[in-house]
Amino acid sequence: MANPLSAVPSPFLVRMGGRAFFGSCVWDGLGILAMLQAGGTLETSCSCCGERMSIDVRDGRAQPTEGIVQFAIPAKRWWENIVFTWKTMLLFRGEEHIDRWCSQWGQPLGATLAIEQAWRLAAAWYGNKMAPDWRRAGIAETEALLEGLGLGGALWSLRGELRSPVSARVPTRHAGGVRHEAVSLAACGPALSGWLRAVPIHPGRQ
Ligand SMILES: [Zn+2]
Repeated sequence: MANPLSAVPSPFLVRMGGRAFFGSCVWDGLGILAMLQAGGTLETSCSCCGERMSIDVRDGRAQPTEGIVQFAIPAKRWWENIVFTWKTMLLFRGEEHIDRWCSQWGQPLGATLAIEQAWRLAAAWYGNKMAPDWRRAGIAETEALLEGLGLGGALWSLRGELRSPVSARVPTRHAGGVRHEAVSLAACGPALSGWLRAVPIHPGRQ
């Protein structure tokens, strides 16, 4: 992985002109559009029910604005297991779809963002990543970025003690439906890698 790009197929397909890319999560899908600074479409589906969804980015704006993004894992825990975290940064058709997903996977409600807000986060995070002088932001800089986007509170905090381990249940999804898998947290990385290799993704299928 080279954020926001994924070298393996994922449920987050970005089409830009004649090119296609995979992102590791909904945020990274939007991040590809932000990084390459060109219009395009993120093709994905509701992570609850598999209903096809897409987000168009034109002229620096994301459309439509229907749908809600949820980040289930608190920001300061993202890098405990980034593969698991990516699998929980998802797009949903509405609040009831998020509630159903949380109930299904035993996750508390995470941070929710409107599409436009998620796009602004992607643009702020990845918009300059192709610049020759790009460098990874430090904690203070990242906090300022999040605050500037109105993203505050415990779920966005980057400081403080970690508490219980991240859930061991891993949601997996592929074109056309949801597949349930339960694996130990330690096995998340290999299990998901295997899943990603095995899942048939058909970029050309409509
Ligand atoms: Zn749904």
